[in-house]
Formats: sequence, C-alpha cells, structure tokens
Amino acid sequence: MKKRTLFFIEVFFILTFLISPCCYGKEKAYKEVKKVQYGQDTVHTYQHLGTGAQILWIENDSKEYGFAVGVKTPTINSTGVNHIIEHAIFTGSEAYPSPQLFFEASAAYPSLYMNALTSSDRTFYPFSTPYMPCYKALVKIYLDSLFRPNFLKEPSSFYEEGFHYNPNTKSLGGVVYNEMKGAYGSDNRAIYRAIRSFFYRDTPYTHDSGGNPEEIPTLRYEDFVATYKKYYYPGNMQILFYGQVPIQELLMTLEGYLRPYAYEEAIDLKVNLPEVPQFATLEVLPAQNGSSLAKVWRLKRPLTAEEEVALETWIEANWFHPQSTFKKALEQTGLSKGYFFKDEELPYPVYGIVFSQLTDQEVQESQCILNQLLDESLDKPQSNSLLEKEIIKRTQFSGLLVQESSERGLEVMEALNEAWTHDKSLDTFYLKLQALEGDLLGQLKKAPILLKEADEATLVLLPYKAQTTSNLEEILKKADRSKKNDWAQIVEDMITWQKINTDFSLPSLKLQDFVRDFKPQLVVKEKKGNTYLDLTCSSELARTQLYYPTNQLTKDQLPILFFYSHLLNEIAKEHIPFKGDIETQCLALEKKGEILPLFKIKVLTPAKETRHGELYQIIRQELLEKDKSWYEVKRQEWLKNYRTKIRENPLGLLGSLCKGYEGGAKHYNYEMGVPFYEWMKALEKQESKLWIKQVKDLDQLIYRSEGVTVATTGPCAYRNPYAKSWEKQFKKQEALAQKNNQTDCIETIYPKQSIVPIQSKVDYLYEECTLKNRQLTGKDYVTMAYLTAHYLNPQIRMGQGAYGAGGKAQFPDTLSFYTYRDPDYKASLKILEGIPAFLKAECSQEDFEQSKQEALNSIHVQFQLLQGCMEQADSLERLYLAGYTAEKINQLQQEVITMQQKELLQQADELKRLIKKAAQGIATGKPVESLTEDCKVYDF
Ligand SMILES: [Zn+2]
Repeated sequence: MKKRTLFFIEVFFILTFLISPCCYGKEKAYKEVKKVQYGQDTVHTYQHLGTGAQILWIENDSKEYGFAVGVKTPTINSTGVNHIIEHAIFTGSEAYPSPQLFFEASAAYPSLYMNALTSSDRTFYPFSTPYMPCYKALVKIYLDSLFRPNFLKEPSSFYEEGFHYNPNTKSLGGVVYNEMKGAYGSDNRAIYRAIRSFFYRDTPYTHDSGGNPEEIPTLRYEDFVATYKKYYYPGNMQILFYGQVPIQELLMTLEGYLRPYAYEEAIDLKVNLPEVPQFATLEVLPAQNGSSLAKVWRLKRPLTAEEEVALETWIEANWFHPQSTFKKALEQTGLSKGYFFKDEELPYPVYGIVFSQLTDQEVQESQCILNQLLDESLDKPQSNSLLEKEIIKRTQFSGLLVQESSERGLEVMEALNEAWTHDKSLDTFYLKLQALEGDLLGQLKKAPILLKEADEATLVLLPYKAQTTSNLEEILKKADRSKKNDWAQIVEDMITWQKINTDFSLPSLKLQDFVRDFKPQLVVKEKKGNTYLDLTCSSELARTQLYYPTNQLTKDQLPILFFYSHLLNEIAKEHIPFKGDIETQCLALEKKGEILPLFKIKVLTPAKETRHGELYQIIRQELLEKDKSWYEVKRQEWLKNYRTKIRENPLGLLGSLCKGYEGGAKHYNYEMGVPFYEWMKALEKQESKLWIKQVKDLDQLIYRSEGVTVATTGPCAYRNPYAKSWEKQFKKQEALAQKNNQTDCIETIYPKQSIVPIQSKVDYLYEECTLKNRQLTGKDYVTMAYLTAHYLNPQIRMGQGAYGAGGKAQFPDTLSFYTYRDPDYKASLKILEGIPAFLKAECSQEDFEQSKQEALNSIHVQFQLLQGCMEQADSLERLYLAGYTAEKINQLQQEVITMQQKELLQQADELKRLIKKAAQGIATGKPVESLTEDCKVYDF
C-alpha cells in the first residue's frame, strides 16, 4: 500500500459539530449523524438506516471528484483470497457483463486515479476524475461490481485472476499468482512482511494478504465465494464521496444497491497481541541481496494523533537527520544508511530502523554498536529542538505540496478509511494537521518514553534457505483439492468466457468533450542572452527551473556531471534551515535533430520566499566545502541504492538498457544508467580519490552567464522576483567556452538485445522502437491504445496470466511494448510478432472509437494536462526547449479525433518493420538458450 504523507491546512481549524436530523432519499433511507468542518472540508457522516453502512461526504470546492469504498477484510490465510476478490470484482457484473470491465471503464472514462488495493485488514476501491459525467458513470460501475459481481455465478474470473494450469501450453497462469511471484523477489516487501508477522503472530496480520505463491494454488472457488459473502455487506463497508458532487442523486443511486441487505455490524478487528522475544533470526529474504538488521518497537497502545506526529518527528530528527548526533555516530562506525521503518496500518503501530544489504560479518558487528547508540539516544535524549523544528517545517511543506496536488482527494479518503477500519476517531487525519501547526515541541519530549515503554526487538533477517516448490506435479497436487478441477475443461471454459461478452460496450460519452484545449500561456522573454519563461499560477508555492546547456562538456566528463548532480541533491536534503525543495537533474532533449544536453535546477518554495538564486548558491557552496569522507559515504550509498533500484524495477532497467541501442538524446539518457553505474563501481578501486577533485572542478564548468533558460511558475508577482534573484547570480558568472559537443564522441556499438538474469520466477520483456523519418501523431496513440486493449491485454494478461502487458506511444518518437511479471517471455515474444497481422484483421467500429478515447487519455497523462499548474508548466517548458508550442498537444488530440478506422491497416506494415528493428530487453530467471549475435548478457 501506498505510504501516506501528512499535510496541513493553512486555514484556521474550525470545528462545528452539528448533529442534524436531516435525511436524504425518498424514504428517509439515511440519517446524517454528523457534520464537521475542517478548514476547507466539510465532512458529512451519514448512516444508512437499513444496513448500518457508513457514508462520508467530504464536501469542498475541489476540481476533482472522488469516490471510494473500503471493506474490512481480515486475512485468515495466505491464499491471497482478498486480493483475488479485489481483482475479480472488476471482471464483470450484472449491469456491466464484460470480463475486461476494469480496463474498458478506465479507457471509456478518463480518471486521475483508478485502482483497488488490498492490505491485511481492508480492501480499498478508490477513483477520482475531473469530469462529472465520468464520475457518475464510474460510481455506478464500482457499485454494481462490488454488490453484484458475476463471479458469484461463473468461476472463470476466479481462475483467470487467481491460479490456473493450462495443459495445452503447460503453463501456470493466474494474474495474482504471477503478480505475487514477482512481488516475492522484493527485499523491502520481505522485510515489511517479516516485521509484521513477528509482532502479530497468530492474528490476521501474520498472513500475507497479497497471497503467497506457495499457497495461492490451494484456494478453492467455494472458499473464494464464501469469503466474498462473509465480508462484502454494507454494514462492513464505508463509502466515501469527495468534492462538489450531487450528493442527493448519488445517495439515491447507492440506496438501490444497499436496499436488499439487512442490518449487520461491521467485522470486529480487535486482536490480542502475542508476547514476543527480544531477539529473533528469521530466514525470509529473497536470495542474492545479503542480510538485513532491524531494530523495531511495537507500541503498547494506539497513539493519539498528536503523539503519532510527535513520535515520527522525534525519530526523524534524532535518528535520521544527517545532522543528528546518532546519524553522525553511525556514519563514524561505517554502518551503512539505515532507513525509517513505519507500519501504522495496525491496531498498535510499529516503528523502527532497518539496515539492508549487509554481509554476515556486518550483521554481527553492527548489532552491538547499534544497540549502544540507540540506548544512549533513548536514555539520555538530547534536546534537539533545532532539528525538530526543521522536520516540522519539512512536513508542513510536503503538506502544502499535497494540498495543491491533484491527488488530494485520494489522500483524504484513504486516511479517513484507515481511521474507520481501525476504530480511530475520524478526526485523526485532521488532528494530525492541527498538531503540526500547534505546539509540538512540548509533546516531543514524551516521544522517547513511548519507545522505551514499547515492546522492543532486534531482528536478523537472512536469505530464505528452504526450497520453494517448483515442481509442476507438486504445485498441481496442491491445487487439485476438488475432483471437479479438470484443468483442460477449466481453461476451455475460461477462454469461452473471456470472449463471451465482447459485444458489450459501455455507454460512451462524446469524444469531443474530452479534448482539452490547451491554451499556450507561457510568456517568453529574451534578456541579455538568456530566455525567460513564465507561467502564472494561483498557488501558494513558487518554482523556478533553470536549464543550463552542458554541451561544453566532453563525454568523459558526463559521469562526473551525473554524480555532481546527485551530490547536490543530497546536500540539499541535509541543508538547514529548510526553505524549500532544491533538486538538480541531467537530461537530454532533441531539437531539430540535434541533441540538447541540459543541467536542470529546480527550486520550489512557499511563494513568499523569493530568493531562489541565492538559496541555490548556498547549497552549491556547501557541496564544495564538504570533506572527503562525506563524498565517500555518498558514493557507497549511491551504489547500494542503485542495486536495490534495479532489483526492484527490472522493467525500468530494461527500458534504460534499450536506449543504448539508439542514438541522439536517448543515447545520452542511456549513459545515465548502466554506464554511469559501471563508472561509479570503478571508483571503488581508485585509491587516490581523484574523483572528488574532479567533481569539485566540474562545478566551474557548468554555470554560465548566457544561453540559460529560466522558467518560473507561481503567483502573479510584480516584475517576477524569482527570476530577478537568478539574474543577480548570472552577473557573477563568466561566459563559458564554446561548445564541445560531447555527444559526437559516442561511437561505441551497443547491443540490440539485452538480457538480464534475475532471481525471479516471472519474466519481464521490453521492446522499444524509434521512429526515424517522422514524428508521432495522434494516430500512433490510437493504434497503441487499440493494441493494448484488444490484443496485448487479452492475449498476454488474460490468456497467459501475466500481471501486465501493453504498448505505449511516447512523444516525440517512441513506440514501446512491455510485459511484466510474465510467466513466459518467449510466448509473449510470439504474440508481439503477431501485432501486424492483428492490425490487418477486422476491427469493430465501437472498439476503434473507444481506443480514441483512451488515446486522448494517454496524451493527457503524458503532458500532465489533468494535473496542477506546476506539472503543466513542466510539460510546456519541455515542449518549448524542444522547439514546440502547446499547439502541438492540441494537434495530437485533433489527429486522434479525425483518425479513420482504415488507417489502422496502414500502421500494420510500418509496425512490422519497426518491431523487427526494435531494441529488446529481457529479464528472466530461466536459462537463456539461443542468443542472437547482437546480444549482451548483464550481471549485476
Ligand atoms: Zn494485484
């Protein structure tokens, strides 16, 4: 589940309790039991009289409309039953009998967010959209799916989403089965699961709600249906509406679904906590990544909102802030970076500190030091009010970001549902915001006491030694608990079912209504050789983004530049006092066929802070003053993080490797991936630490007084003080030497095919095609949407049971195809080869029109049109730098609208050529037999 961030509301905290007798619905079906105002939100609590269901309406004037349903679903074993229900819910219902309902609905009705999530004790079904017609349509689809799912009558979706064996292809399918096989390769997940199971032994929190691949096959259809019936009734649900929605109408719609049910109380989630030992060694990690050490505390009671905020602030300030005594002492001992562990979605929260990727020797050595340091910090807590104030300021700032984000509705609904699930006061969420603004420093003194009173444990987490079942016979024996399990018949029925309702289509909305007219609002000015871009937003934040061309650097200097940029980000995180976010980034764009390498600086602060240029210079200076040991620690941390990153995201790694085969800006971006990693690894052997000098020297080669693009976004300000603060800096900088064009030096031959062996039972596949003679048009977006919905998804996801598959168009020149957590990449490769033939086959007019809708949606997502002003400015700046105006977005949308069905045919031949030439990446745990000549096998 997604981690929730705290956020605060600037408006005064007003509490007005109004117990209102007012009722909605014809027959007084609901009672409004409470109406409370918190800043901009008025939270109405209704009770459905017939069933006891709780309904919340968070009323405000937000531009997004949100809806969610939360169900209490305690986990009674590790068969993943709640997770499989969550998937199967959207595979067809009485009024919407389409096996692909979720994908069709998300294509037909554009949303900001649409998903479902399962955790140990609840399943949460949220979405949000800025379009009212879509909102109403999706609310009906969600309700019909939740209350009248077709899986009660027909088991095929249970097998499709859960587990099945296909005797024809001898493959093990099931979307959740493959999803979880992939998830079991993640270190972070294993650590989180281990800590939960340790503290909550013999409770619903011990089991894996996602499902253990060893146990998923044992789940029977009867138990799946019985679990749905046990949990999915209105009294066990909370239903949430967010924004300025027509509440009367919505409550009436809801009433139609609730009426058939009787009154019943929600499931009781109370648990008795087991006693736990103070030390345990657990074999739980996926192999290959070393061991982990965790120091964890389970609190003795649920915390108040104020205590929760105080404890988190205290831990962050005293253990994790780079300036804290504890953190400095830890670095002295050579202990690598630990991270803050927090599991609050529990009746009694767990906090801790975790070190991963350790050798056995490091585990032994570090335990003693760690205990000693932690004991000291808890026994004699030092007053660290400076750092504590810092953390509060940072938390308040990230609150402001959420406040302006387009996902605020989701955050609020998620928090309110979490409180309902765990019997906390619904105020908890708002009280946390209040706590951040109040006098928290007094509360902070109590924080170490909370930990000292808690149940404390040291856990040594080791790689998993027990053999998992990989023998097909054994797996099938587990699954074969019913005589009716005749797999050939099951698969045949499933395939028939998958095709059965393809005629069904959702009521479509007028396509033209979803074309976003993107009016160019970027004001462009030239001054003293620099370009100023400005987009005025009504915001409490202000942001400047500087783009320095870096084509004066040579190819050898690129890794130094990448590392320099990373180090600036690190120092910005450490810097006190906190004024806002400062980040740098290296990137390359293409303008009229030429590569445009850029060094980008972002300064984002509350709007009243205008000294952006000065703030950045302070950070820059601080970096140059850091000593060698700081640089060395950062180098080690980078390597560790990179290894984790590529293990946790094999598809991302493949995407980056495939860019090596391409020229231009793509190749530049490739250099930031594995080649940079190789360079960083090589530093280990450099005894002279010459690289530190190289990094410091590079600082002199970037900044220039001319040719810079300065983009500002924020509230309308007289003469733009943010840009002014940068002008002052330019005066201090010299004109730099002529460009060197490092990108011409890239001559090395790169492989077409990249193979990454991984320790996983599922595969990942990625193919990238680059258009050479033309740019993407709206038609490419339609084609990719059509292929994803009607070919790749049905064939690879539904047919083979991969967790995901699809195709994507990416402006300006890329078409890509991918599959992830795929049981068999070879079968998927064959399916990719069939793309041209599929495009030439017949296509229904309705399918084609719906793909246009999805194509519009993906253009909106790519250019962040549904997001806030800051995100839109980001897209506009990129377009400007690459030589386009916002008109390009309008043009792409028009090309989508006007595309004719016969044009799909024309795309078939081009795609055939492109796929043949595509760069290809494969990550697999299987032995790779036949390698093409142009292939490289990686070893990380
Ligand atoms: Zn899932």
